[in-house]
Amino acid sequence: MLFSQITGHNKIKDILMRAAEADRVGHAYIFEGPEGVGKLDMAKAFAMTLLCSDAKEGCACGKCKDCSMFLSGNHPDVRIVTNQLYDSSKKSTDILVDTVRSMKREIYIKPYMAERKVYIVPKADTMNMFAQNSLLKVLEEPPQYCTIILVAENSNSFLPTILSRAPILNFFPLKVNEIFEYLKKCCPDISDKILQMSANMSGGSRTRAISLAESDEANEIRDKAVECIANLSGSRRKSIYDMTLFLKQNKDDSAFIINVMQEFFKDLMFVKCGAADRITNLDKKEQLDMLASEITDKTPQRLLEILFKYNDYISKNISYAQIAQCISLELWEAINDRGYRSKI
Ligand SMILES: [Zn+2]
Repeated sequence: MLFSQITGHNKIKDILMRAAEADRVGHAYIFEGPEGVGKLDMAKAFAMTLLCSDAKEGCACGKCKDCSMFLSGNHPDVRIVTNQLYDSSKKSTDILVDTVRSMKREIYIKPYMAERKVYIVPKADTMNMFAQNSLLKVLEEPPQYCTIILVAENSNSFLPTILSRAPILNFFPLKVNEIFEYLKKCCPDISDKILQMSANMSGGSRTRAISLAESDEANEIRDKAVECIANLSGSRRKSIYDMTLFLKQNKDDSAFIINVMQEFFKDLMFVKCGAADRITNLDKKEQLDMLASEITDKTPQRLLEILFKYNDYISKNISYAQIAQCISLELWEAINDRGYRSKI
């Protein structure tokens, strides 16, 4: 993995490349950010640079023996730490204290080939207090040659003593155009229309974008979500119950559904203000036009506000069944201009 192959995160790339070039590499880093934005790939690109015997301007050459071994997954001086790496019988996905102990024993053995050793710990924020305290010992007195990269979604899970020894590099969700370019490379056989739609709805996550682009299930849920919204228009109250049922049945995909609705309501706003050329749900133009003709100019904004409110409630662990009911009712009221009342 080369820095040049990584999508986005140019600032972080720059920091790491400059550190490598100036040979001022820290003993530990925390790569923090949401799932699927490329933290692990960045850690691998950094590791490859640190092990390369012919790195230039902070970038691995991609050709030397170290790079070849790295790319084939056989370089002895880089480790992607999982429980199974040291004990194949371990089932837990949380990084266990035994794993940290095994890793520590290894770290103090000098590098075999390169001048450095790099330990990448994915899901490092799953370490409990004992595992973190065990890791702390090596962070306090790291061997000169070692760099540890802790990859995490949430740095709040780390003890302050760990945080004080490992600078945090924050990874933000990728931009829609960055995701689109990434998808073009990964899924060349899928049409641009599907890729663009997937990029729009990915929330900045590459993994989510790929699963959207490749999965029929995601498209089915999206179709159903749009159908439920379109049906809310009119006095038939049954549509409220249909949407409630749909939301309840797809609880695990609630974040995705909210995202689909959000993109749909944004498009509704574009249609209402005569900017239909900016819509992203190109294949839903018919439903958008129909709904737009039945609502007021202010309705799309109101619909978005309702979504934001309930999205916040979901994150606060309020009863999902109650949220599903209330959100359906409030969207119906807003679409049919029946006034506002909150149920929560
Ligand atoms: Zn190289």
